[in-house]
Amino acid sequence: LLSVRGLAKSYGGRRVLDGIDLDVAEHEVVVLIGASGSGKSTLLRCVNLLEDLDDGQIVLDGVDISDPRLNPDIARRSMGVVFQSFNLFPHMTVLDNITLAPRVVHGVPRPQAEADAQALLARVGLPEKANAYPDHLSGGQQQRVAIARALAYHPRLLLLDEITSALDPELVGEVLSLVRDLATTGRTILMATHEMGFAKQVADRVCFLDEGRLVEQGPPSQILTSPTHPRTRQFLHRVI
Ligand code: ATP
Ligand code: MG
Repeated sequence: LLSVRGLAKSYGGRRVLDGIDLDVAEHEVVVLIGASGSGKSTLLRCVNLLEDLDDGQIVLDGVDISDPRLNPDIARRSMGVVFQSFNLFPHMTVLDNITLAPRVVHGVPRPQAEADAQALLARVGLPEKANAYPDHLSGGQQQRVAIARALAYHPRLLLLDEITSALDPELVGEVLSLVRDLATTGRTILMATHEMGFAKQVADRVCFLDEGRLVEQGPPSQILTSPTHPRTRQFLHRVI
């Protein structure tokens, strides 16, 4: 579904991504791990075309979406994105947050968008929160709404960047269990996380990033327990 080739990105002369090759197959859950600053967020932002690439190619569903002649907004419609900090619109209800893009971007009539949103809220376990405002929800509930909003476009690919790292520890579980659910139902997910236990349980493949390079990837059973690269061993030794 997704194929990244030779992706390079620098900020002010500093290489942050250095020749990344990465594939994500349909229905696959791929987890990016690596130290802070290793480039996980930058990689996800590049895939979502939120950054200009210095070099390389991003192919989604056979289309080179990194081609500067294409409108990035069109490619972005195939991707649902959730970031670390809650980015719901605070002045809009939960229902309006979820229906905004389907209505405005995709032209879905309001009654249908709202019915879809209600179904999504039930899916994320918050059927009673449609008319609530984001700041009346817990952090975990806000992230579940953000996931519902990302799903509302029927994206082919979900990009999740540290979606639990701003949460109180007791709220992490509810969000991860929702992601686990989505993985089980065949969603294609590319996500960055520091939750190694979760990566171990849910990932089909774990990719270790180190200073902008993808140094090692494989099934979690291999990468997390018997990595071959010394940098991976060092990293896991520190975090587990
Ligand atoms: P974390 O685990 O802390 O989220 P990360 O792996 O997501 O880290 P990135 O956020 O991708 O790391 O950052 C990679 C490097 O790029 C860091 O050194 C960071 O300081 C730098 N960087 C990221 N965004 C920018 C920017 N907009 N301008 C300049 N430098 C940036
Ligand atoms: Mg990050």
